[in-house]
Amino acid sequence: MKSTLLSIAILGLMAACTPQTATPPTPATPAATTAPTPATPGKPLVVYTSRNEQLVKPLFDRYTADTGVKVTYLTDKAPPLMERLRAEGNRTEADVLITVDAANLWQAANLGLLQPIDSPALQANIPAHLRDPQNRWYGLSVRARTIVHNPAVTPVASLSSYENLADATWRGKLCLRTAKSEYNQSLVATMIAALGPAKAEEVVRGWVANLAAEPFANDVAVIEAIGAGRCAVGIVNSYYLGREQRDNPTLAVAPFWPNQGADGRGVHVNVSGAGVTTHSDNVEGARAFIEWLSSDKAQALYANENMEYPANPGIDAAPLVEGWGEYKADVINVSEAGRLQAEAVKLMDRAGYR
Ligand code: FE
Repeated sequence: MKSTLLSIAILGLMAACTPQTATPPTPATPAATTAPTPATPGKPLVVYTSRNEQLVKPLFDRYTADTGVKVTYLTDKAPPLMERLRAEGNRTEADVLITVDAANLWQAANLGLLQPIDSPALQANIPAHLRDPQNRWYGLSVRARTIVHNPAVTPVASLSSYENLADATWRGKLCLRTAKSEYNQSLVATMIAALGPAKAEEVVRGWVANLAAEPFANDVAVIEAIGAGRCAVGIVNSYYLGREQRDNPTLAVAPFWPNQGADGRGVHVNVSGAGVTTHSDNVEGARAFIEWLSSDKAQALYANENMEYPANPGIDAAPLVEGWGEYKADVINVSEAGRLQAEAVKLMDRAGYR
């Protein structure tokens, strides 16, 4: 490890897990974790992560406690982290990239920033649709991008699918996050894959026609607008609802799992995930770290903390999240969200979704 870059890394810039709406990075306290005098310490690891510090630091600390391997990290939004990796090239200190949304992971792989890791442990722990077909990244937590509503105002029986929200019966009743969010771009990308571009565009045009308000800056604002009765229905990532319900047990907003039933493709799910950087000088250490992140112990810690679903299907989510009941997920490979992202962005623009 070169000391100059390591010292940059331990500045540990803060960023939220939603890169597109995160507040600008601000300097934080040094973020290196220290091993409790390990007997045989492994080579240290450097992680670039767009997940926020409160979420990843307990995990990294646990890894250090378990293995003696020191983990140093840098947090920022996904695009600057990828740009940094690209600019650093073979001089990078980074061994692992952790980020959210398959579109970002696809982009990192497509830019040549990640290398294939053929790991029987990861292939056993992580279902095939939640990892890169070329093994350059693996999903580590799952979020459902689902419909939300106030059941007292908008009965379950009135809801069915993402496509149904384009129906004129929802005129003036739909709240959405801005089209700038990768989350909605990925949802639309998987609709292109499932329905074809013409039908997907028709649906997005219907959504725009049905908006109750200008698109919101983030998912929490959508949940709050539904709670306040400003709109009847919206689409958000499940963990935002989990956090809002945890913090406000009287919140009258519930999930509705769309596109269920025999002919439905299932709820759109996406991932946070990790890959080993192309120029890591510690590939074996990085592989062991990501394998550990997919293990039972780490999966329970990682997903529970953020109210996500573990990517490892053997592990339960938090009790509040489990309480929402099971759903059928869309099992299209999440990498399709990356492959079709540019097309989705153009489609949303044509449809007037801003
Ligand atoms: Fe998020």
